[in-house]
Amino acid sequence: MRGRRIWKLLLGLGRAVIEDAFIEQETLVVKVRPKARERSRCPHCRRRCPGYDQGDGAKPKRWRALDFGTTLVYLESPTHRVSCKRHGVVVAAVPWARHGSSFTVAFEDTAAWLAVHTSKKAVAALMRINWRTVGWICERVMVDEGARRDPLQNLKRIGIDEISTAKGQTYMVVVVDHDTGRLVWAHPGRDRATVERFLAELGNARCQEIKLVSCDDADWITRPVRERCQNALVCLDPFHIVKAATDALDEIRREVWNEARRAGEAQLAKELKGARFALWKNPEKLTDGQELKLARIQQVNQRLFRAYLLAQQLRLIYRLAPKKALALLEAWLKWARRSRLEPFRKLAKRITQQRPMIEAAITNNLSNAAVEQMNTQIRLIMRRGYGFHSPWAVIALAMLSLGGLCPPLPAEGA
Ligand SMILES: [Zn+2]
Repeated sequence: MRGRRIWKLLLGLGRAVIEDAFIEQETLVVKVRPKARERSRCPHCRRRCPGYDQGDGAKPKRWRALDFGTTLVYLESPTHRVSCKRHGVVVAAVPWARHGSSFTVAFEDTAAWLAVHTSKKAVAALMRINWRTVGWICERVMVDEGARRDPLQNLKRIGIDEISTAKGQTYMVVVVDHDTGRLVWAHPGRDRATVERFLAELGNARCQEIKLVSCDDADWITRPVRERCQNALVCLDPFHIVKAATDALDEIRREVWNEARRAGEAQLAKELKGARFALWKNPEKLTDGQELKLARIQQVNQRLFRAYLLAQQLRLIYRLAPKKALALLEAWLKWARRSRLEPFRKLAKRITQQRPMIEAAITNNLSNAAVEQMNTQIRLIMRRGYGFHSPWAVIALAMLSLGGLCPPLPAEGA
């Protein structure tokens, strides 16, 4: 066949021999075979193995490659099975595709890169595959890239959290590196066994390297962490404390609203309902209208306004320098205890019990903004993964997007 070098260049096939090319129903089919030294290798360990049989492969297999302009391109090659000492009888590896895939590596890397950088619609339309297929591709790319650059390296300060997806039907444990801001591990589940699985994957030596673990005050997280990471300081995620304060504030708001309604003060009840978002927001982010609502609450309901100030003050603690923050925490606890606001008294009690873990977060400068931002990002990706075939595909998309495992575009890597 003439012009082999041009074909090789166009297809980016370094480790294959091109035999023929033909057009079939408007698509281009290129017949290829692995170079001699690439043949008969196990797809898992890449060792050369004795051949086993032709598999189901009287019929050659096809792999979708990147389009040539507007034309679909397929690679075609016969396959056979090899017998690996470690991995048993498996279909032999081919240098242009990942094991079990019917797309080339260049095609998959491009699809994964697009899944991270563009909209769902754009990936599917541009690559001419559906979103579910993108999920399968993300999984294979994650496994490949994860093996190449171990995300669990050099962890010193981590956060462990649980995330619910698909309206609370699936739960996942996620682990974040506070130093790089990267997602380093995720697994379906919300129990001790899942946390233990992470620690086992990390291994004993690396568990000892961990200096700080932030998490929710849940036994199923803190216990295995304390047992395995003996040099780690366990601190409470600011995110959960700030959320508890918001919940306490909301409880008061509902109480006050119910009282107003029962007393027949329809106008006040309506105002309180409308003030919900003003109460939740950071003061510096309030709109003029919301500021007005707050001023009105201060006027008509001292109790609710005190609750608002208590919640804001607690949020402020995670934004101050440690020394000031510790003093403010002390003052806050005193104030909350004698506030005559039951939800805040309860919260003060809880915070007193958890105080060493909270102070650890403050002295180690664990800001709430960073932790909350990571949580939001993970949730967004999880929602984006809607339509995938399994939670693993969702995790793969998250690891590619937030774990630094996104492959470069094929030409970048060359
Ligand atoms: Zn093998």
